[in-house]
Amino acid sequence: MPKPSAAIVGGGAAGALALLVVVIAFVWFCRNHCKSFSNKNSETGSSDPSAIGKTLCLLITLIPCSPPLSVEWNRGGPGSEARHGPRLFTLEELDQATKHFDESSLLGYGSFGLVYKGLLRDGTVVAIKRRSGAPRQDVVSQVTYLSEIHHRHLVRILGYCQESGFQVLVYEYLPSGSVCNHLYDTRSEPSTKFEFKQRLSIALGAAKGLSHLHGLKPPIVHKNFKTANVLVDENFTAKVADAGISKLLEKIEEAGPSRTSSVNFFEDPEAGSSGVTSEMSDVYSFGVFALELLTGQEALHIGFLGSNESLFQWVESWLSSNNLADRRLAGSFTAEGMRDLIRLTLQCMSFPAKRRPKMEMVVMELERIQEKEMSMTTVMGEGTDTITLGSVLFT
Ligand code: ATP
Repeated sequence: MPKPSAAIVGGGAAGALALLVVVIAFVWFCRNHCKSFSNKNSETGSSDPSAIGKTLCLLITLIPCSPPLSVEWNRGGPGSEARHGPRLFTLEELDQATKHFDESSLLGYGSFGLVYKGLLRDGTVVAIKRRSGAPRQDVVSQVTYLSEIHHRHLVRILGYCQESGFQVLVYEYLPSGSVCNHLYDTRSEPSTKFEFKQRLSIALGAAKGLSHLHGLKPPIVHKNFKTANVLVDENFTAKVADAGISKLLEKIEEAGPSRTSSVNFFEDPEAGSSGVTSEMSDVYSFGVFALELLTGQEALHIGFLGSNESLFQWVESWLSSNNLADRRLAGSFTAEGMRDLIRLTLQCMSFPAKRRPKMEMVVMELERIQEKEMSMTTVMGEGTDTITLGSVLFT
């Protein structure tokens, strides 16, 4: 038999090598594109679980890259939730993390029950919300959906547990608590850092979080946006908590007792009377949050909310008493910056709801106010004549 020539052998080897390179490149391309479609679509590393990337990933079925629908098996280690959906925790590990759900680990209480601080075996600190309830598929599907939403200004849900008559949600832990703690909670130390520019940046962070939720397809309406649901990390970066939880509770409570309802000053009165919530109801709630930020007071103590007095009558009376801005802010803001923030706040709370700006417009306006505030206080220096107290704001 004639021996194959060196040219044929060489050609064959080169062809095989080229094929290998093409296959490797194809696999690399698919993996990276699936990852970037499903994990990132903005400079903040946000994700939209409904994005086109999911469709692409599904099409490329030979290369597993999207989270599987079933999460029952998912008992992964740290960070596994980023690749495989939410983590399924055992009650035993959460029990250990919270020293048997001891009072010393208690952070507070909310609509999903008691909230504990927990330390997982891998060293991750988490916030654990626990309520009594039988296991429900609604919990699995809503947590699976929410765990795919990653954004710098949204508190991440890491996983869940449904065992021994408990429904448990596990979140990333925000060490500096909620904005309430810093703004008006008398139990906490007053924060010296909480000056006007910092409040602006907190408002902007929260607005970006809400805007991201509203930009998803389908949009997520928060339905329970309030100052207590804006948490801050060690750098005072604001993150919106509890996105999608009102909807989950609505589903769960359809089958059980409904929540006791107290007056909620953050609730859009229009949505309250019609029972229909929309992104614009969140914009109203954001307005109340901004009002708390600039007055430093709880909405509960702000006269007109919940009364028959019109917003404009109320603002007028506050302005004439030169009492609107938080006194603790004295000397730390420009008159223009404060005026612009008040104007935006009022726009968010206007009626009818269709007159309110969308959250993405609120983000743009806050960015503009912040930029201007920065440039004015940097050029002129803090404490110069351009920095004006509330008393001359509206003359
Ligand atoms: P609601 O349930 O109506 O949103 P809420 O925000 O007051 O009311 P929770 O969200 O359950 O109730 O929070 C209860 C307490 O736990 C609050 O003090 C809150 O700051 C704290 N907390 C909640 N989530 C976290 C978290 N991820 N990191 C740190 N603290 C948290």
